[in-house]
Amino acid sequence: MSEETQHGGLRTPIVAVLGHVDHGKTSLLDKIRGSTVIEGEAGAITQHIGATAVPLDVVGEVAGSLVDPSEFDLPGLLFIDTPGHHSFTTLRSRGGALADIAILVVDVNDGFQPQTEEAIKILADSQTPFVVAANKVDTIPGWQVHEDTPIQQTLDAQSDRVEQQFNEKLYEIIGELSDAGFTSDFYWRVQDFRSNVGVVPVSAMTGEGVPDLLAVLMGLAQRYMKEDMAIDVQGPGAGTVLEVKEERGFGTTLDVILYDGTVRADDTIVVGGVNGPIVTDVRALLKPRPLAEIRTESRFEKVDEIAAAAGVKIAAPDLDDAIAGAPVRAVRGRDLDDVIADVQEELAEVAVDTGEEGVVVKADTLGSLEAMANAMEEAEIPIMRAEVGDIAPRDVAMATTVDEEEYRAILGFNVDTLGDADDRAEQDDVQVFRSDVIYQLVEEYEGFVEDIERRQKEAVFENVMRPARFRILTDHVFRQSDPAVVGVEVLSGTLKRNTPVGYFEGNELERVGVVKGIQDQGEDVDEVRAGNEVAVSIDGPTVGRGIDEGDELWVDLPEKHAKVLEQELLEEIPTDEREALHQYLETQRKRDPFWGK
Ligand code: GDP
Repeated sequence: MSEETQHGGLRTPIVAVLGHVDHGKTSLLDKIRGSTVIEGEAGAITQHIGATAVPLDVVGEVAGSLVDPSEFDLPGLLFIDTPGHHSFTTLRSRGGALADIAILVVDVNDGFQPQTEEAIKILADSQTPFVVAANKVDTIPGWQVHEDTPIQQTLDAQSDRVEQQFNEKLYEIIGELSDAGFTSDFYWRVQDFRSNVGVVPVSAMTGEGVPDLLAVLMGLAQRYMKEDMAIDVQGPGAGTVLEVKEERGFGTTLDVILYDGTVRADDTIVVGGVNGPIVTDVRALLKPRPLAEIRTESRFEKVDEIAAAAGVKIAAPDLDDAIAGAPVRAVRGRDLDDVIADVQEELAEVAVDTGEEGVVVKADTLGSLEAMANAMEEAEIPIMRAEVGDIAPRDVAMATTVDEEEYRAILGFNVDTLGDADDRAEQDDVQVFRSDVIYQLVEEYEGFVEDIERRQKEAVFENVMRPARFRILTDHVFRQSDPAVVGVEVLSGTLKRNTPVGYFEGNELERVGVVKGIQDQGEDVDEVRAGNEVAVSIDGPTVGRGIDEGDELWVDLPEKHAKVLEQELLEEIPTDEREALHQYLETQRKRDPFWGK
């Protein structure tokens, strides 16, 4: 049993690091690991598969006066090595996040950025407590570095000017947190970390504030999570697949983060796979070999058993279909069918609400699929099929079955395309969107939908009749009839060829004929805008009978067109045309209040 993880039946809390790219997630993890590696010393940090354990002793050493190890009974902290919300969402467990606490890294110079917002949303959705590491405080102009010291100590030694800037930057972050719906404060002022987010100023570069960060994490876990950390250490292990990996000499292996019980080298395990639960026997449990001991044969060391919380590589047959983010359970002492049912149930939890009409969604892990589904639900984008895996030709075939053009799309998060899927998509007019940032996928898809809507609007616009009011000029009758040719002035709107026209008799429009041709200074034109005088030929009336010089005529706009114009295209038409439309509708509605509604 690994001593650093077992402590009176309380397991190590699991810590994840999230934040916007380049805000210093990797540096912070490196700093935490680096500053605590005391080569060869007992109780030093231990490298796991995919995670690093920092035992309480080391937290105590780093945090100095901020932590008194005798006040704690949790064994330390287990940091997930891969930062970012992708690994965070991958590591789901029983409907929530596997990580018990998160560090949200925010660059004090950059403040909140898109991935910060996304991370906050994911943390809120999974109800994961977090602290904010306000990083890069050393970049404040004039900052005097005091390596690896608690923040208060280094702050006391800064000039007033530096301290003032420090406060400004931190209050900006506190403001942004508030905009995101979280009350927060400098961590030393926070009384209750359940209702307030603690902001810890740090520098991942100089180590300043890192003692504080460890102290806050440790304190938070001890105070609020102790009960959750009480596990049956000897019980059958439960964990989540972080990665499915080919490993030389071992075939397909699983990198697993174990959060409950123990897995033994002779266990039968059940793992979530593409086609449902996989039952298999552990062939080997592997841990990274300590650096000093690496010889030629393997980077891994076989162990007999491993207890939560830990990161372990499991080698076993039949793991090819296993999926990242899926549950792993040791069967030991339990009924196999019960365990299979458990795994099945957890897999089903992620089953996304799908409908008959919608887009196809693919993601690389169960957790990321769930996060995608959440983001899409929020953006009100319906899903027809959601699956873990690369984009395959059959996904393209699926996307072609929808009626609406806007649903002929596949959104792939962190996946590749297989075989001729790309070619087929192009041939079949299926849009494929791929990204490793969820909000980008959603935005790109929304852009695609907007394009379609704009095109559809334009098509409607092309076919819709436009309102116009015009007057027959006196002394400009060029022909009496068949067709009548007269000079007109367009008073408002746009007069087009081949439109029926008439005049209002009371509130009733009397159709007189159809404008056949329009001539502007001898040239045939298709339309004429308000303010212009042109000659028009009108099929139907005879000047002196149906129409007369000085008459005011209207385009005989059909009710359906008037309705589309008023309800959908009002923003698109020029002001004078809008005026003509309103006047036209007003007259019609004096007769029938519901006309065009
Ligand atoms: P990630 O993308 O969030 O993992 O960010 P990195 O850890 O890769 O850091 C991005 C850049 O910021 C790198 O050039 C780091 O050296 C730098 N950086 C990270 N933390 C600090 C810090 O506290 N102070 C300063 N000055 N630079 C930092």
